Order: sequence, then C-alpha cells, then structure tokens
Amino acid sequence: MDGPAPRLPSPLQEVRDPRLGGVRLLLKRDDLIDPEIPGNKWRKLRYNLAAARAHGTVLTFGGAYSGHLRAVAAAGRRFGFRTIGVVRGEEHLPLNPSLAQAAAWGMRLTYLDRAAYRRKHTEEVLARLRERFGDFHLLPEGGSNADAVRGCAEIPGEITEPFDVICCACGTGGTLAGIAAGLRPGQRAIGFPVLKGAAFLAAEVTRLQGGAPVGDWSLEPGYHFGGYARRGAELDGFIADFRDRHGVELEWVYVAKMLYGVYDLAARGVFAPGTTVVAVITGPPFDSGARRGAAGRRALR
Ligand SMILES: *Cc1c(COP(=O)(O)O)cnc(C)c1O
Repeated sequence: MDGPAPRLPSPLQEVRDPRLGGVRLLLKRDDLIDPEIPGNKWRKLRYNLAAARAHGTVLTFGGAYSGHLRAVAAAGRRFGFRTIGVVRGEEHLPLNPSLAQAAAWGMRLTYLDRAAYRRKHTEEVLARLRERFGDFHLLPEGGSNADAVRGCAEIPGEITEPFDVICCACGTGGTLAGIAAGLRPGQRAIGFPVLKGAAFLAAEVTRLQGGAPVGDWSLEPGYHFGGYARRGAELDGFIADFRDRHGVELEWVYVAKMLYGVYDLAARGVFAPGTTVVAVITGPPFDSGARRGAAGRRALR
C-alpha cells in the first residue's frame, strides 16, 4: 500500500571550476532523491515514519512557503498517515502554490497568529491542538528532532570519495546537527545560516545533538543575504552563472546561499590547497519540482 521510498544513496557530482583554485568541490545531490519528498526533508522524516504510522496522524509547523510542510503532506499520502499543518500567520485565500500543494496532497491546514506561533512548542499551545485534533505524532518546526538528526547523520557515510569538509545550509540546524554527528575523525562540517541573527543556532544544533556538541562543526553566519527568503542581484547572478557553467539550477532560499559561501571561502583562501569540500544540495528549487512536473522542468532550462 506504500508508495516507493525515495532513492538513496544520492549521487555525487564533481564541479570543475577555475574559480575554486586548488579546492576540489563535490556536490552531494540530495535534491535528486525524490521529486515530492526531496533532500534533507526525507532524511529528517525517514526515522519518524514508524511513529507517524503508529499514531496515524502527524502534526507539524511551518511558514506559508515551508518545504517541510509540503514534504510531510507528500509523505502522509505516500506512506499512509493523516497530516495536519499548523501555519504561521493568518489564512490567505486562495492558498499560495506551496500550501495549495500541501492541501492537494491531503494535509489539513490550520493557522496560528504570530504570538501564538512563537509559543507553538509549549505545553499550553500543544494541549489546545490536542483538544482540537486528537492524538498525533508531533514533528517540531522544520522536522528537526532526534530521529531527524539520525537520518541526516547517514549523509557523510554515503560519500564514496575521501573528503575533508562538508557544507550545508541551515534553517533550524537539524541537518547540520546530523551531518556533524556522522563525520569521521579529521573531517569537519560548516553550516551556513540563511536567517539573519541566527545567534540561537549554535545552541540549537548542540541541543539537537543531545546537549553536547558531537563532531567538528562551525557556522559561517555571513551569507544570509539580508535574511530568510531575501535575495538580491549578487545572489541571482551567482545562480545564473552556476546554471550556465554547470547546468544545475540552485534552490535559492538555502542552497545558493551556502554554495556562494563555499566559493567565497575558497576565494579567500580559507581552505588549504588540495582540500576536498562536499556541498550538500539539500533540496531542489520549488518551482522546478513536483508541482510543475517534467514539462515545467524542461521549460526552465
Ligand atoms: C528545509 C531546508 C533546509 C534547512 O534544514 P534545517 O535542518 O532546518 O537546518 C536546508 N536546505 C533546504 C533545501 C531545505 O529545504
């Protein structure tokens, strides 16, 4: 009765680019593992599925353009559990394309105003949600919990080439927490926060790792480009250039900011010559994904 599981391991792709100097860059193409439940969203859901099915219902949180909400909706449809998405802010109709996709995949949407949303993980708000919706498996915002960290910890071990540094974008930090926990001695991980003022993030990654840091990881907070879902000509230029040179359309909310940061660190000589850097492509651009289908993907090229 289940649909197919996303395809792991994801491919590894070398990028040859003179701007990288003596750095060898490999892309870990997690964006390709599934059109509906891509990248780190599947990694984070994978070990939550058993609990989801045991409860029969998953409730989780996200913003109005949350890829996590879409992925949970798709997983519920494919693996047989009900999904409730608690959206930050007020309802706007018609639904935007992201929430419309989640709803089309069967997710029941409900809304919390910004003040209540800030308290979403408190017992008080959760008790109200339980009163309304009954028993559910709770996935925190962004899907980051211990089982999510366990899923993301499998990324380094899948990489068949020797490497020194592995890089990923950070929203809630769950992906970095997992990747760092899966490193071998001598390897290190760098996270690139996409939120401005992500001072909370180091503590959050540590909390997700069980309370004490695991693995050699650090954050590069200088590449948020003005904050979450902000972009400008410089980032757009980088995306267009990368598309022209390498034929890869970079997701811009997370992935392009991280990769821009990797190129910048390489240009500034932060990596010793001969360093092999893996950049995890944690997801595809929303517009070229499942919603538009293969015809839409072709039209974008
Ligand atoms: C959701 C998302 C992230 C953020 O991952 P966290 O575990 O919340 O830090 C990174 N990249 C992409 C493409 C995403 O969709």
